[in-house]
Amino acid sequence: MLRIDVITLFPEVIEAGVSYSIVGRAREWGLVQIRALQLRDFASGKHQKTDDEPYGGGAGLVMKPEPIFKAVEACQPTQHTRIVLLEPQGKLYTQAIAQELSVQEHLILICGHYEGVDARVREHLATDVISIGDYVLTGGELPALIVIDSVVRLLPGAIHSPESLGQDSYADGLLGYPQYTRPEEFRGLRVPSVLLSGNHGAIARWRRQQQLRLTRALRPDLFARACLSREDLELLKEME
Ligand code: SAM
Repeated sequence: MLRIDVITLFPEVIEAGVSYSIVGRAREWGLVQIRALQLRDFASGKHQKTDDEPYGGGAGLVMKPEPIFKAVEACQPTQHTRIVLLEPQGKLYTQAIAQELSVQEHLILICGHYEGVDARVREHLATDVISIGDYVLTGGELPALIVIDSVVRLLPGAIHSPESLGQDSYADGLLGYPQYTRPEEFRGLRVPSVLLSGNHGAIARWRRQQQLRLTRALRPDLFARACLSREDLELLKEME
């Protein structure tokens, strides 16, 4: 079973985020164990300080290394544990990283706050530094929840129809195809007729064409990197 420990100043945010829907059920079914540890519990001194002024001056507060090292040690990491520091300066999070993390035994996610975390955590404790995007949030709790959500839905048994995972955007390097449901016509807007045809071959071809079309139009960067089959190239030609 995958074990995820989250080190945070706001365990209640993590608890709230992992208690419902697919992640909540995966916990109940014993597919994943998720714990949120209060960083303050590992801080020493009367005031249990977890942050301090930056050396060299400057605005804001920096999270101290000792409580973070102690909290990680309390999670009893093994040599296989992935110790992930969430930082805007990290490697950009992708579905491929989610897949890689979903097959681990133990993840420790470290959430920063304020001006960030003493650099010794990144240099000497973390095995991975991950950013969820090129923007700055106030804390690492939402990024940690994003990592947890994307990893847990990949665990065997977490999703009712695992075949849907293969249809997701990014699963094979392309965006997903458009989906429609009832009614067949809504305010004069009709569902593409091929989806009502019952012709599974034609539906599969249409969906692949849509994936290729959307990815080329919306994410040319992904399209340029995608491994396209001979059938894909034929579908593209057909569209032109
Ligand atoms: N001063 C830092 C910098 O310029 O890189 C920003 C610190 S940010 C205000 C506080 C914390 O929020 C970070 O330590 C990190 O844990 C989290 N955080 C903010 N944006 C993030 C992002 N894009 N990805 C992952 N974590 C992020």
